[in-house]
Amino acid sequence: MAYRYWCGECGFKTAWLSRSQGEQQQIDHYARRHPGVPPGGHVETNRRKPPRTGTD
Ligand SMILES: [Zn+2]
Repeated sequence: MAYRYWCGECGFKTAWLSRSQGEQQQIDHYARRHPGVPPGGHVETNRRKPPRTGTD
């Protein structure tokens, strides 16, 4: 399963990643671009597209 995290504040989205990697990128994006805003947005899942790295 691959996960893509979408920012709730702007048009940013992560690449298709494992859940832990996507979460980390979302957190990093918020820390850089939206400091003080708790990470929101939504998560898109794709069970056909495997993550490039990671085990989940
Ligand atoms: Zn954003």
